[in-house]
Amino acid sequence: MIANYHTHTRWCRHGTGEIEDYIREAVKRGLAELAITEHVPLPGDPDRIRIYCDEFDDFDRELDSLIQKYSGRITVRKGLECEYYPKLLDYYRNLQEKRGYEILLLGQHTSIDRRLDNFCLSRPEEVLLYADEVTEGLATGLFTFLAHPDVPIAGYGRADSAFMEAMDKIFSSCEKLGIPVEINANGLYYKRGYPCREVWKLAAKYRLDCLVSADAHHVENLVSPSVEQCEALAKELRLTVLSRLPSLDPCPR
Ligand SMILES: [Zn+2]
Ligand SMILES: [Zn+2]
Repeated sequence: MIANYHTHTRWCRHGTGEIEDYIREAVKRGLAELAITEHVPLPGDPDRIRIYCDEFDDFDRELDSLIQKYSGRITVRKGLECEYYPKLLDYYRNLQEKRGYEILLLGQHTSIDRRLDNFCLSRPEEVLLYADEVTEGLATGLFTFLAHPDVPIAGYGRADSAFMEAMDKIFSSCEKLGIPVEINANGLYYKRGYPCREVWKLAAKYRLDCLVSADAHHVENLVSPSVEQCEALAKELRLTVLSRLPSLDPCPR
């Protein structure tokens, strides 16, 4: 791994470590590029798994100053992991354009109406709804790549025909739109069932760009055996893996 584009910190309240701890680790492990991609703060702070809105300026200031501090040693990029909530698209766009969050990951952790937790789905129609919402989100053109497409396997627990139909829909849309899909090492580390082998076998049938990400929530998970296992899976299934994201600004501020 020479770049990791999915990194959390203690700022999301379910991770540990300061931003600088991750940057130091990345430098130590020889990464050329690191994106800090916290869970986006949501207006009204509806849950406790992300930065609160009134902390965001402090977080943003710290990230900007570290980007400067480490420039020349490593490229640190600003990103956010976002759910597709149609009402918030202008808000996300504003974070991208005005505050420099150039990488927006689509990580659809809940349904659009926030009634379903996508880690805990049980019915086929819920998995198909997940796929519909993800593809609708991808079609906005706002998202840089799709995080953990197979995340519902964590609760759903079976790669049955509905699940594969959902993945088929998602991969078709990523192929059509040229949006990279992530093989997520954090799911492997916590044995959540993703990355799901059957799903990535299916992915191999598409012209897809894949990206192995740590999705680190602890510093030691940035470069870890789980990342290596994801890389090995991709190699075995002959998936096309991007080592760097080609679409980014070559000289970020
Ligand atoms: Zn998280
Ligand atoms: Zn996620």
